Amino acid sequence: MEKEKQPIHVLMVAFASQGHINPMLRLGKHLQNKGLHVTLATTEIFRHRFFKHNQSTTTVTDQIPDIPSISGIDILLFSDGFSLDYDRKANLNTYMETLAKFGSKNLSNIITSLACNKTRPKKFSCLINNSFIPWVADVAKELSIPCAMLWIQPCTLLAIYHRFQSNPNDFPTKQNLEKSVEIPGLPLLQPCDLPSFVLPSNSFLGLTKTFFETIQNLHKLKWVLANSFYELEKDVISNYVSTFVTIRTVGPLVPPKLLEGKIHDDHDEENFIGIDMWKSDDKCLEWLNKNNPKSVIYVSFGSLIVHSREAMDRIATALRNTKRPFLWVVKPPDYPVQEGAGELPKGFIQETKEQGLVVNWAPQNLVLTHEAIGCFLTHCGWNSVLETISVGVPIIAYAMWSDQPTNAKLLVDVLGIGLRVWPNKDGLVESEMIQECIEEIMGGPKGAEIWAKSNEWKGLARNSVENGGSSDRNIQEFIDEIVGINS
Ligand code: UDP
Repeated sequence: MEKEKQPIHVLMVAFASQGHINPMLRLGKHLQNKGLHVTLATTEIFRHRFFKHNQSTTTVTDQIPDIPSISGIDILLFSDGFSLDYDRKANLNTYMETLAKFGSKNLSNIITSLACNKTRPKKFSCLINNSFIPWVADVAKELSIPCAMLWIQPCTLLAIYHRFQSNPNDFPTKQNLEKSVEIPGLPLLQPCDLPSFVLPSNSFLGLTKTFFETIQNLHKLKWVLANSFYELEKDVISNYVSTFVTIRTVGPLVPPKLLEGKIHDDHDEENFIGIDMWKSDDKCLEWLNKNNPKSVIYVSFGSLIVHSREAMDRIATALRNTKRPFLWVVKPPDYPVQEGAGELPKGFIQETKEQGLVVNWAPQNLVLTHEAIGCFLTHCGWNSVLETISVGVPIIAYAMWSDQPTNAKLLVDVLGIGLRVWPNKDGLVESEMIQECIEEIMGGPKGAEIWAKSNEWKGLARNSVENGGSSDRNIQEFIDEIVGINS
């Protein structure tokens, strides 16, 4: 008798943060649409964080003790070895080590017990991890399951980290802070274009260790998938990244409706595919509706960055002086910060109430697709960058740390879709510089060129995920190989 064909089931494992979970969910949806069964595992703390910030959304509830789902993808939770009230951000080094030790054991036990379930055994044909949890590759090896990684930064960063690991002397040192770095397929990178983790000033040693373990572990992976698209980074992919790893670009992993440009017609959870850790302010869209096309400056620095009081003052002054409408996301810090950090200058909201709107969290994907948006002043987090490229809005790059300076370099000097602001010798970006960039994009001669380039890249991003586009083909090849291994 012919053996009944088992469905191919993939387990994705993500660090418990929005920026890691959302690209995974969107990749999962692509795999699901092409016939695979997909589960996403993350740590227990995710559910509690999600609840704390977002009580009104009901995709995950305390009353669902088993495996809830998000956007149609099953969720599996495992313990990271800490109690729920432990402050994980207080000592990131300890946290990453404990997560590796206990998380791997707990994940391994869950996978084994699901496979041994007498009534409904669930066997995974592939594990997919992402960059903060390199130990998932070891779990996969121990259980003889092939493993892939979804890299959630540009391929350019994979190139830089790889080069740093193999040739640290090519990078700036305490003795030579000004050293520039040459990598095939990339423009010459000055220290201000490099990710903060490879600079002598880096103090985030725990995170850095995790990044470099990821690079060291590349040989344990059967596939490396990247949240980017081939056309966006083809020079560095073909000249460097593909020399040390088989890379498949599968992005941009943004809400599918964003790529279709239809998000306003059809905004429901099913189309968003992802989670929003914080509840967004409903006023944004109503307020945007009152503004002219391409007139509003959208300002957001993502979920983590908290500016000093001095930096907040300068951003506020620049916005006020432009006399143009602005929508500024000022997210209250969720970790201890210096006095005054993240705070608006006194009286700012009252003074600018006819000009702009300040909110704690915005529905960014809806905002970016609104016709009133004229430019985006952003910290250049990779998710924000991909969302912006997908909708063709020009960028003003205000990069701070991690991959952001490199992303800014890519956006401004390689893609030509924005301008970059620079700090002065005290590390502060002056308001005049912010204002000049805004004026140039909103009305200057370079503005028109940048809008045209943004439109071009929007088209290329959209083509890449369409049927037969580069990312669509890469996803199909990945699936074909998993199926091949299991047949
Ligand atoms: N975001 C949002 N509302 C906001 C600010 C940000 O929905 O008011 C979303 C944004 O769309 C993006 C994510 O939060 O998907 C931020 O990720 P990114 O990689 O840009 O920056 P990070 O927060 O990781 O620094």
